[in-house]
Amino acid sequence: MRDDRGSSETYLDWNATAPMRPEAAAAVSDALVRWGNPSSVHRRGRVARRIIERAREEIATLLGGIDSGGVVFVSSGTEANHLALLGTGRERVLVSAVEHDSVRRVLPAAETIPVDRDGRVALDALERLLAGDARPALVSVMFANNETGVIQPVAEIAAIARRNGALFHCDAVQAAGKLVLDAGAIGADLVTISAHKLGGPPGVGALVITGGIDLVPLLRGGGQEHGRRAGTENLPGIAGFAAAAKAAAEEIAVYDRVRALREQLEAEIVSAAPDAVIFGTGAPRLPNTSAIAMPGLAAETQVIALDLEGVMVSAGAACSSGKVGPSHVLAAMGVKPDLAASTIRVSLGWSSSEADIAHFLKSWTALRRRCYGFVEGARAA
Ligand code: PLP
Repeated sequence: MRDDRGSSETYLDWNATAPMRPEAAAAVSDALVRWGNPSSVHRRGRVARRIIERAREEIATLLGGIDSGGVVFVSSGTEANHLALLGTGRERVLVSAVEHDSVRRVLPAAETIPVDRDGRVALDALERLLAGDARPALVSVMFANNETGVIQPVAEIAAIARRNGALFHCDAVQAAGKLVLDAGAIGADLVTISAHKLGGPPGVGALVITGGIDLVPLLRGGGQEHGRRAGTENLPGIAGFAAAAKAAAEEIAVYDRVRALREQLEAEIVSAAPDAVIFGTGAPRLPNTSAIAMPGLAAETQVIALDLEGVMVSAGAACSSGKVGPSHVLAAMGVKPDLAASTIRVSLGWSSSEADIAHFLKSWTALRRRCYGFVEGARAA
């Protein structure tokens, strides 16, 4: 990829956001022309309503052909997670220790489900937590982790939840568009997805209700989305979301190539830097994500140095202010703070190429040589 000034640019931060797919951009601009309020009875309103309902079908198809009536459009993955956790009104909420902050921070009283060293939910602990308390509960566990790519045993989690009379919410924001998803097979009552992670516009997401459960809306007003989320629908955003979802489903096979590139990247890291640590390799992972520690070198330093070379990755859990905190995901996996602080996330996407991997490896190994050479030199002096 070339940047605006013609220099070489390598984007390996796809878990933060993906570029908008051309199909999505076209659908957004088409919906801007075919503007209208989907609640209006006149023809403009009816055209807008048709766009929304077709989009609902498309999202239902992406999730394995569920009933499109369960798709609730919202403003983001974050809002969908809030709606799931707050809208079900369950007395107990249990969330895994590696959830995204948009789940972890919703309810301070939520209980934590521990994970093993690979970051997978400890199923026996979940079973004990649920069996030990008869209050109506909601279990929230993500499909795949944004920092490590580790995939959770969601079908087993759903079965444990069901056996114990609990509802199951699954944040599938990182998995949607990268893996074939079947909400029926997951067995979740509620599934969260977000447009901008799969090539749609930012600021639009969906909470998908697979069963017949009722939700108490977070936003009340005009009764849109069957009373489950008030506010005039984001027509261009929803149209772009649907077009991206369709393209993502049609092109899902590209992730076989992405996985091969990620494997190549990790093999070369291990051979060039035997002390490097890659997290979550003992578990199934998303095809595009690597969490890599270069011991002794702060993640922020790596991110800045790589950026100077035109390579974009991220450090730990970057929040909106750009500040980086210690990763609660790695901490929950038992990773020592020093090692966690030297971990970067490299995430690939559908247009990632061998040249991108070569650019990253060249810059990363040169940085490592510079820093470790300096450390060695300091020791010798
Ligand atoms: N859940 C996960 C796993 C995420 O990675 C993210 C975003 O990074 C979100 C939820 C929030 O999605 P949004 O950016 O649409 O609010």
